[in-house]
Amino acid sequence: MTGYTTVIGLEVHVQLATKSKLFSPAPAKALGDPNTRVHPVDLGLPGVLPRPNRHAIELATRAALVLGAEVQRESEFARKHYFYPDLPKGYQISQFDRPLALGGTVPIGGGRSCRLHRLHVEEDAGKLSHTGVGTLVDLNRAGVPLVEIVSEPDLRTPAEAHAFLRHLREVMRFAGVSDCDLELGSMRCDANISLMPAGSDTFGTKVELKNLNSLKMVQRALAYEQRRQAAVLAAGGRILAETRGWHDELGESRSQRSKEQAPDYRYLPEPDLPPLVLDEAFLARQREQIGELPEQRRERYRTSFGLGDHDVAALARDRALGDWFERVVTAGADAKSACNWLLEDLLPALRERGLALADAKVSPAKLAALIALLDAGTLTRTTARKVLHHLLAHDVSPQRALAELALARIADEETLAPLVDAAIAALPAAVEAVRAGKEKALDALKGHVMRQTRGRADHEVVDRLLRAAIESPEP
Ligand code: ADP
Ligand code: MG
Repeated sequence: MTGYTTVIGLEVHVQLATKSKLFSPAPAKALGDPNTRVHPVDLGLPGVLPRPNRHAIELATRAALVLGAEVQRESEFARKHYFYPDLPKGYQISQFDRPLALGGTVPIGGGRSCRLHRLHVEEDAGKLSHTGVGTLVDLNRAGVPLVEIVSEPDLRTPAEAHAFLRHLREVMRFAGVSDCDLELGSMRCDANISLMPAGSDTFGTKVELKNLNSLKMVQRALAYEQRRQAAVLAAGGRILAETRGWHDELGESRSQRSKEQAPDYRYLPEPDLPPLVLDEAFLARQREQIGELPEQRRERYRTSFGLGDHDVAALARDRALGDWFERVVTAGADAKSACNWLLEDLLPALRERGLALADAKVSPAKLAALIALLDAGTLTRTTARKVLHHLLAHDVSPQRALAELALARIADEETLAPLVDAAIAALPAAVEAVRAGKEKALDALKGHVMRQTRGRADHEVVDRLLRAAIESPEP
């Protein structure tokens, strides 16, 4: 905004990919019908005690490590009290002044990065649905494990906020911490934004934006709020410290509640849980479990496979996709061929069928075998594609598919010559055009031969025979 500098800080909740909840054995994944995944611990019934889920602590630790945060050897759970129907205990178990991790950074492009303030573990609350007959409470989410990641106010544009979240999502997914789906709520983001006069270093009053259910919405809401605040300030007005909800369909934010006074949550150390103590061996194991991160993988694909930036970015986007690609190479395919077949043929074909790579009948070994048939000249590119489609529907080997489809390549001149003559006879205008120097017109003739052979004809042989026939004097 002209005349103003924008300041943005994000608070992101990431749901940890555990089977059960943070302090109870109730399932945390695949939440079914409302209120069917609730344990007495989630309700805080008398006589129950919370028991930390080891896997949740492991994943939270990995989240901190991949962000370069400093994991505290000792942290503490705390009760955060508030009264609301989504919180049956009357308090949420979170962390307050002794969080799991401090610091860390997230790269945001252009050589810039955003510092992290802290990362802490907490349980989710229930979900309220406001309906015509009243407000309904579903406690399936109550007690689901989360980490909250709070950034410093280092971001300066909506695009930087977008880059921050993309990086966060990528590394969390790679490290197996979370699937980070903003639409489904396994990643949630509140964005704080303020404006100050350009050149100033005193931050303005911030507004907190909620209901940001996709990366696009985060960027749109921040851009809108930037304009709204600039207009208020330019008119001599004052920004109210408030929480505003984003209404994507309206393309605007609306005030939800004033934040002039900080609520008093009466935090106190959780009396039912001892401090969380993590030893060096635990940290070392978590570091090992993280494995390769996206940037390391991209570097390896560039250097050991010689792939270009575009391919590298596409393959390393998703851990499972990269792993699949590597299995094709291990099964003997050349890296560039494996990459092309995967990105340009297999993935689009699966998308058309609404299938995920994991559900495909085609295994990495089969794709490698298909590429080998192509390299050996048994198949043409066109027929290889047909075989691939056959493999998606039938659980057979590429060799078997080839036989079933009768798609072996035809390269012998004796078979192809009559077909070339037929194409020339059928398309005299194209022949004239080629003679007049229009190279492109040759494609129509080749297409004719290809149709007659269902794509099995060898391109080079057909090309050679066509040219020879056209160049020879007319009979
Ligand atoms: P509060 O006390 O209101 O909770 P915090 O200082 O804890 O505020 O910060 C909450 C979030 O708001 C952090 O992500 C932080 O980076 C961000 N933030 C703080 N001050 C500003 C500001 N003036 N403008 C934009 N974001 C801010
Ligand atoms: Mg705060």
